[in-house]
Amino acid sequence: MNLADMASSVDSFFDSQLSVWRDARDRYEALEHVMQREIFFGDFPVRLQCNPSRIVSTGAKVDAASISKRPCFLCRCNRPAEQMIDSAMVEGYDFLVNPFPIFKHHFTISCVDHRHQDEVDLTTIALFAESNPDMVAFYNGSASGASAPDHLHFQAGNIDFLPLCRYVADHTGECDERFSDIKVYRYPVLPMKFIRFSLSTTDEQSLREVLTRIDALSTDRSMRNLLMFSIEPGSVEVLLFPRRNHRPSCYYAQDESQRMISPGAVDMAGVLILPRIDDYDTITADEISKVYAEVGVDDCELKSMIDRLVSN
Ligand SMILES: [Zn+2]
Repeated sequence: MNLADMASSVDSFFDSQLSVWRDARDRYEALEHVMQREIFFGDFPVRLQCNPSRIVSTGAKVDAASISKRPCFLCRCNRPAEQMIDSAMVEGYDFLVNPFPIFKHHFTISCVDHRHQDEVDLTTIALFAESNPDMVAFYNGSASGASAPDHLHFQAGNIDFLPLCRYVADHTGECDERFSDIKVYRYPVLPMKFIRFSLSTTDEQSLREVLTRIDALSTDRSMRNLLMFSIEPGSVEVLLFPRRNHRPSCYYAQDESQRMISPGAVDMAGVLILPRIDDYDTITADEISKVYAEVGVDDCELKSMIDRLVSN
């Protein structure tokens, strides 16, 4: 199947699903009227999205005791009767429309087996991203924004929605390293801290080897977010956001400084999901910088990770 056919088959799957699933359709329609505003950090816009239906994810109890008490909503046997499956898109995964959207087209790609979120194979996500250049694929480590940490999954949405995808396409980054076929960049000017790897996908075995090395950089695989997307055919951009905290201190505050914000990959890529209108109306640039600083790592840590990658 060529790329144009693949895109139209994704569109028709999406349309078919919404035609038979009213709750999901209502939420996608509501998304068209959701409030959004931007706060600039230099020339980079962080977009705030006031999205009440995402409270199910932002406020999700993901501790082991709570998880063990609820049925897994990504296992086939527990999914809503209306939810359709495309099992041909990604081998070993069910391709599903996400019924709690952030993107105009928002998909969840759920492993057919109930396996832990941190047992991810990064090559699967990279090859999906390379084959679907109109989408960005993203993954949340089990303690970094995944609302189903017990069931392996990643997600995908329209690539033009995330400010960071466009930004890295237009900006090389201030510092770069190059070794083997990998280009490595950092962006110290941005409030969110990540490493960008530009990888060739033309040789799947080499791609797998490189991704295995990138995978090994995270000593705790639960503490990371990943974004993958393709700017040019035959290549994939991998953005790794190492994490040091699941949620920022403001999430747990007991006074008026409390914010309902629980960052995952989408938030790290410049779209902050705020289910409560008070937070949306009043959050400041300083508070946003603090959120990124508390949940992410600093530039020194990124540099030492790059050094480890280069020296291994
Ligand atoms: Zn499951």
